[in-house]
Amino acid sequence: MTTIKRLTVAAVVLVSGLTANARAQRTGAGLPRVPLRHGPLKIVVAYPAPGSTVEFGDSTFIFGSVGDGDATLTIAGQAVPVAPNGAWLAWVSLPHDSSLVVVLTARRGQDSTASLLRLTRAGWVRQSGAWVDRRSLVPVGDVRLPTGEPLPLTVRAAPGASIRMLLPGGEVLRFAADSIADAPPEGVRAFDRDERNLHRPTPGDRYVAVLRTDLNPVAGGWESAVPNGSVAVGPILEIAVGGDTTRIPWPLAVTRLSEPPTAIVLDDDPQRQGGTDRITIGRTFPTGTYTWFLPQGTRTHADMRLGDQVRLRLSHDVIAWVPAADVHRAAAPDDARHAIMGSPTLTAESDRVNLRIPLTRPAPLSVDATDRGVTITIFDAVSDANWTRYGANQRFVRSLTWKQEAADRVVVAVTFDRPLWGWRVRVDGTDLVFDFRPPPAVDPAHPLRRRRIVIDPGHPPGGACGPTGLCEPEANLNIAHIVRERLVAAGATVTMTRSGPHDVELWPRAALADSVDAELLISIHNNALPDGVNPFLNSGTSTFFNHPQALALARAVQVRLVANLGLRDLGVARGDLALTRPTWYPAILTEGLFMMVPEQEAALRTPAGQRRYAAGVVEGIAAFLRDVARSNQGRP
Ligand SMILES: [Zn+2]
Repeated sequence: MTTIKRLTVAAVVLVSGLTANARAQRTGAGLPRVPLRHGPLKIVVAYPAPGSTVEFGDSTFIFGSVGDGDATLTIAGQAVPVAPNGAWLAWVSLPHDSSLVVVLTARRGQDSTASLLRLTRAGWVRQSGAWVDRRSLVPVGDVRLPTGEPLPLTVRAAPGASIRMLLPGGEVLRFAADSIADAPPEGVRAFDRDERNLHRPTPGDRYVAVLRTDLNPVAGGWESAVPNGSVAVGPILEIAVGGDTTRIPWPLAVTRLSEPPTAIVLDDDPQRQGGTDRITIGRTFPTGTYTWFLPQGTRTHADMRLGDQVRLRLSHDVIAWVPAADVHRAAAPDDARHAIMGSPTLTAESDRVNLRIPLTRPAPLSVDATDRGVTITIFDAVSDANWTRYGANQRFVRSLTWKQEAADRVVVAVTFDRPLWGWRVRVDGTDLVFDFRPPPAVDPAHPLRRRRIVIDPGHPPGGACGPTGLCEPEANLNIAHIVRERLVAAGATVTMTRSGPHDVELWPRAALADSVDAELLISIHNNALPDGVNPFLNSGTSTFFNHPQALALARAVQVRLVANLGLRDLGVARGDLALTRPTWYPAILTEGLFMMVPEQEAALRTPAGQRRYAAGVVEGIAAFLRDVARSNQGRP
């Protein structure tokens, strides 16, 4: 653990002021100066909210304003720089306690004021004896699993305790110390550039056990309504340490299923009310990352339930976890046959190629696309494809092949003669229908002319706010308006996902881009960090993409944003975000500045700062399109 070094770094920034280099990285070479502001001395904490729970190691950030640029501020005894407009951002070390009271004192001349900020530190429990964290019990609720399948159980309790579960049938299950649960907070793992912060002390308060008790299996599936009998309800957890014993009920109902996996249909809108994206998202484990994107109507099998998640068995060796609400028992009885894939057909359309893959029923699929090829895996399927029709006047698809990769899995491989610009898939009847599109014909002299570009001003709802109360929805929209004006002036057709302050949810933004057949999507945001990550060391400019065909656009925009803003270059990153997830066009999301850094928030309040950001976006798009034009030369 590097507590000492880390605190030293914070102290250098906070106490001895900023080096020229550090200041440049906060203010940005291209950003306007922070204006001087005078007003009544008043401490306002913009973040974290009083009484909130924050998760961090030794230190975390606090920001707000004192109302006057000439004031001084101390927080928990540490001097904090105040920007000319009265805003401040502090990185403070706080004691290892669950309940915190942070003292803030502001002074200006003879005038002074103090404020107390009360916080709760997540994950810290000052307790003695046989304590147990009731919120740490995993899993809880309704669990249904196939006979023979082990069920891991985890809990957080007093270090050095002896822990056992007393099952209703009289059996006893002993827990062991868990050696792999001491991970740093996900925010630190994802955003902290200091690798030393990945190493954390072992608290020794995590325990694990595996429930293998074979209850009598009962009739019934993964759906709700716990059947009577053969159900482990209300096991008791017993924690003993140093002569102290605590017993608590574990709210868990475990059912062993007698049924084989049941045939199901995925449908996120069973009432046909509209307003959904018609995609069910699957995860590798119940709280894992998004991995599967299964179109409405997909047929497959379910064999386990864990709380509100259901496990799908896509093929004999591939699973996905999806929300129970999206899973419906199939009307037709399961006849245990695999879907049969017929002969695929390519058809050229004016600016795209269509691929129809006939199936006897809508089987689950996954798609892996690079800019040169697409690999389509169809699960629970066998191929009977005798013919592959390439279509008249169709040159974009260079090759289309398939193979039976496993007993119940077909892989279709498509390669292209130019970089793939976008793809999409839908279920049509029982068939899978893909669209693939090549790069548009870009005019090298006027790369933006006639390009259809969607600009998405990020938020509301939500969005990060700065020390003086400027929030992302307003800042992002101001930048987006300038981007739109400049793109239109250069000949582009621009659609905005919002042009006012009203809320627009995420998926309708992507749906709008689809509806105008966008060629590019740029989502404009300003950044924030998770609690416990040092903004002085980890703020800067970054650009996110998700699919390989968007990487070149992300790189081009990132280069021009960094050149215009002059902040630390955090690079491009793959991010599974709602607005980078579309596949039909290159889609990126820019995080130009950090709302919480006083100099950057102040810049976002000024037209000069907004123009800098907008210039980076527009120049980046133009540079990317010029590259497309060059690589496209000689093409029809
Ligand atoms: Zn945002």
